[in-house]
Amino acid sequence: MLAIVRSATVNGVRGHPVDVEVHVGSGLPGFTIVGLPDASCREARDRVRAALMSSGHDWPQRRITVNLAPSDLKKTGPSLDLAIAVGILGAIDTIDRSLLDEFGFLGELGLDGTVRPIRGALPMGDAIKTPSVVAPHDNGLEMTLLDRSVFPVTTLAEVIDCLSGKQAWPDPPEVMPSTVRRIRPELQDIRGQKLAKLALAISAAGGHHLLMVGPPGAGKTMLARRLPALLPDLTESEALEVTRIHSAAGELTAAKVPLIDPPFRAPHHSASAVSLIGGGAASMRPGEISLAHRGVLFLDELGEFTPSALDGLRQPLEERVVRVTRAHSTAKYPASVQLVASMNPCPCGESGAPGACRCSDAARARYHRRVSGPLLDRFDLRIGVQRPIASELFAEPFGETSAEVAERVAEARSRAIARSGHINAMIKPLDLDSIVPLTDSARSILETALSQGRLSARGVGRVRCVSRTIADLEGGGDEVTVEQLCLAMSLRVDPFGFGQ
Ligand SMILES: [Zn+2]
Repeated sequence: MLAIVRSATVNGVRGHPVDVEVHVGSGLPGFTIVGLPDASCREARDRVRAALMSSGHDWPQRRITVNLAPSDLKKTGPSLDLAIAVGILGAIDTIDRSLLDEFGFLGELGLDGTVRPIRGALPMGDAIKTPSVVAPHDNGLEMTLLDRSVFPVTTLAEVIDCLSGKQAWPDPPEVMPSTVRRIRPELQDIRGQKLAKLALAISAAGGHHLLMVGPPGAGKTMLARRLPALLPDLTESEALEVTRIHSAAGELTAAKVPLIDPPFRAPHHSASAVSLIGGGAASMRPGEISLAHRGVLFLDELGEFTPSALDGLRQPLEERVVRVTRAHSTAKYPASVQLVASMNPCPCGESGAPGACRCSDAARARYHRRVSGPLLDRFDLRIGVQRPIASELFAEPFGETSAEVAERVAEARSRAIARSGHINAMIKPLDLDSIVPLTDSARSILETALSQGRLSARGVGRVRCVSRTIADLEGGGDEVTVEQLCLAMSLRVDPFGFGQ
């Protein structure tokens, strides 16, 4: 007998529908899975057999063939286990086959018959076009984002009982993302650091990458953690897109609410290139740069990351997408991030204070070489951050709150988008003259900086983009003033005193 069960697989952050066709017929007892399963998908044979027997059902001593259609699509991971088990029960008439068209099934099976959570439940749920989806209980929360009924289940026995009418389907969890309030770390908690706070606002408004160089204890990490609070709210479709990526990475659990804040990711400097960028040999998953999509990727101690990891970041930063190619598939992960990095000025971290640095010239040069010129070039904003002085530390909170800055940032962003359709960090060199027209005096300042080697040709263009953002933040008109241009130049210092 033949049963067909709807399920799905995930590639990149997109789900693809899969029809699980199960045939149980005469012949020597055996169990074959065809249709391009990967290793963990093929191992379903052993999991499904044990789970069915643990749930109180006999294993049919007949020839079982499972075809995963379409057969040219690679199926990865154990998420088809539940569909295969249900298909076998349908093929031997334990379950009424006519019911199966109503449901899609997702879930990994444990040997004891439990239904375990899976990676990518949300994009897979998207791909299944049946009126209802049966999914693992621990994926229930993310599945509430689907626009159809979802039944979160904990065991295979429960699924069988519900399908045969012995018990009612469980209700989905209640929490909807719109009821969750946004968390904003407060900018006022940081004393002093006027310049760094200004750079954060400019960075948020224009989407400019920011490098902070300063001694340990200057508050670089605290500053970086405030950046997501300054970014605009994610729209519903953006939040869904971000949640899909986190679902594909298996980062969402029963306890964790679907994302509404722009994400903040701070991978450790020992992170491998794969964990930073995405991919992986056995099963592909998004990297930190994609988990930070529409939010902030913070690289603390930039110079300590491996050169291969940093090199790998350059292309995704430019293209705002990661492409990973393997034998049977190519995965695409969105990666539009705001990069914030911090570094000590030298290995001991004290080179800002006169006489305090204990590093040799060679050690300093080696340290600076770690961050390659092309990567350094990606940072439109490069500032020095010093430790706050005592009088600042004990002063009353001052300056704008995070919410106030976020409001100005949102206005500046909408000005930029109304003008050119994108944020200022994405202004193309060819569009500079029309978007950032220069006065004569502004032009001569840039020419001087170029001829003195203080700015590269690319640097001139990037300074103009930043000056546009400053003008947008200040609510200015079409023309960028000389003061705004000079401020942009002062926020692109050479942090180590070597070529721009
Ligand atoms: Zn030093």
